Amino acid sequence: NAVRVEREFDGHGRTADGHRVELLANVADPEAAQAAVAAHAEGVGLFRTEFCFLGRDTEPSVAEQVAAYRGVLGAFGGRKVVVRTLDAGADKPLPFVTADDEPNPALGVRGLRTAAAHPEVLDRQLEAIAAAAAAESADVWVMAPMVATTHEARSFVDACARHGLSRAGAMVEVPAAALRSRWIFEHAAFGSIGTNDLTQYAMAADRMLGDLAALSTTWQPAVLELVRATCEGAAQHGRPVGVCGEAAADAVLAPVLVGLGVRSLSMTPRALADVAAVLAEVSFARCRELAALALAEPDADAARATVRRELADIL
Ligand code: PEP
Ligand code: MG
Repeated sequence: NAVRVEREFDGHGRTADGHRVELLANVADPEAAQAAVAAHAEGVGLFRTEFCFLGRDTEPSVAEQVAAYRGVLGAFGGRKVVVRTLDAGADKPLPFVTADDEPNPALGVRGLRTAAAHPEVLDRQLEAIAAAAAAESADVWVMAPMVATTHEARSFVDACARHGLSRAGAMVEVPAAALRSRWIFEHAAFGSIGTNDLTQYAMAADRMLGDLAALSTTWQPAVLELVRATCEGAAQHGRPVGVCGEAAADAVLAPVLVGLGVRSLSMTPRALADVAAVLAEVSFARCRELAALALAEPDADAARATVRRELADIL
């Protein structure tokens, strides 16, 4: 995705006509937060908190969690940091939270589902996030992974409220949540589309299987439809939706996602400059046209080829 117009990201994502698109970083530990700051990320769109839990036999204490979260929140000063609560299970097993004998772990007790059996783990994590945010005067947003139902969204928002965390959102990575977005966002204050899992579940294609790479792409029109449905449902409640899966780092796909209604893109810091450069060359109306063109194609290859051809002069 090398972009001809080379420049550094100036820390303010926008289309050619000034439509705002927040360009954020995905970070997994305090070190990554420093790299994100150096790349001028506007904030963090996905702080994966598993680093604090993985490789341990027991749950980290609240004090240990506070120290770990402060390392990331502190790096971003008062800028927005979206903290994702623990996403244990499937590819991230944890002895004290998940079972290791599930026949089909990607469809098992993972993400927010673990909170039904271990509500106290979520509760202590929210306590630690709230304390870390207070200590760093951070603009902290919190979201749950693997939300599938309205009920789950509502109980997560309620749990956050008990800790004074008012910006509580839902990741959209289960197709059911995308299709029922209007109901989910009655409760969740914002959405973040996890395209890695959303694609895996929509296409019934294991994200870890290289052999299925042709199916496992967000360029699949079916996945783009789910992105559109998510944005439309959330817009009915004035809730912003971003993308934080790998797809957010695809500079060719970025205008399509913006045209579908996505308001922020969160990615690996090294992709920020390319994504910003492409967005700066297209108007919002053009993004909407590109989204319509991609959706009208019969398959992923055709959608990608069409958008590439349309953007040929800037790629
Ligand atoms: C995703 O599923 O797109 C996502 C961002 O979460 P993870 O990759 O951590 O499952
Ligand atoms: Mg995911």
